[in-house]
Amino acid sequence: MSEQAHPARPGENSGSTDPGSKISVRGLKKSFGTNEVLKGIDVEVADGEVVCVIGPSGSGKSTFLRCLNKLEDITAGSVLVGGIDLTEPKVDLNKVRQQIGMVFQHFNLFPHMTVLENITLAPVELKKQTKEQARQSGMDLLKRVGLEEKADARPASLSGGQKQRVAIARALAMNPGIMLFDEATSALDPEMVGEVLQVIRDLAAVGMTMVVVTHEMGFAREVADRVIFMADGVICEQGSPEEIFSHAQQSRLQDFLAKVL
Ligand code: ADP
Ligand code: MG
Repeated sequence: MSEQAHPARPGENSGSTDPGSKISVRGLKKSFGTNEVLKGIDVEVADGEVVCVIGPSGSGKSTFLRCLNKLEDITAGSVLVGGIDLTEPKVDLNKVRQQIGMVFQHFNLFPHMTVLENITLAPVELKKQTKEQARQSGMDLLKRVGLEEKADARPASLSGGQKQRVAIARALAMNPGIMLFDEATSALDPEMVGEVLQVIRDLAAVGMTMVVVTHEMGFAREVADRVIFMADGVICEQGSPEEIFSHAQQSRLQDFLAKVL
């Protein structure tokens, strides 16, 4: 396919693993049965970099993110996250996952627990913090996402945007070095999208390393250091927001943008 054979942009596929990379993905392939969903992905994400991933439904964006904390078995290739090789047979998955916060489209909060209990559960269970430390930092996190006053509320009493902000605070509670977002605003009513994007924007501003799968093209354009366009299990094109949104090279990207912009 001529599109896939198109030369990479400068800086892409630079060869050796950069020791400053938080995430280093080489030749990643993922199949479900005979369905090859990821067909060879190469990505480096630098410390503090914000990478937005866009692309049509079914192109493999979620599968790619899930491979980054080994929620999926990796069929071929290598994935290094925070220096840990996830394809090592003896990899300590708990250690990997403590470094990575993940936020999904659906919030998956524990309904029988309060907001604060949702946030303090993992750090206390995994003995990262005492109950009191976890409570303190949980309140700090709630302040950060603007929900201090909801500490004792049950998730059911919150709006979708508030639930998602709690889910982000919960992911941050383990003090991860990397945050992954998979369409974190797609299930929200439109009026709540902005408050969640603002929390992600704030994280970008304090230098959090992030991979953000999103349909919010305006957000990607504004916040991303780099935008990756995935199609049919490959990175079809990547570049700065300006390059991707104003100077798309590939016809598949041009067609995609014509539909979503
Ligand atoms: P996207 O997030 O870009 O919409 P996905 O990564 O969710 O794409 O899906 C890519 C492809 O992988 C789809 O064809 C989907 O059906 C398939 N797929 C995803 N997860 C599974 C699974 N657990 N089992 C089988 N097929 C899957
Ligand atoms: Mg998806």
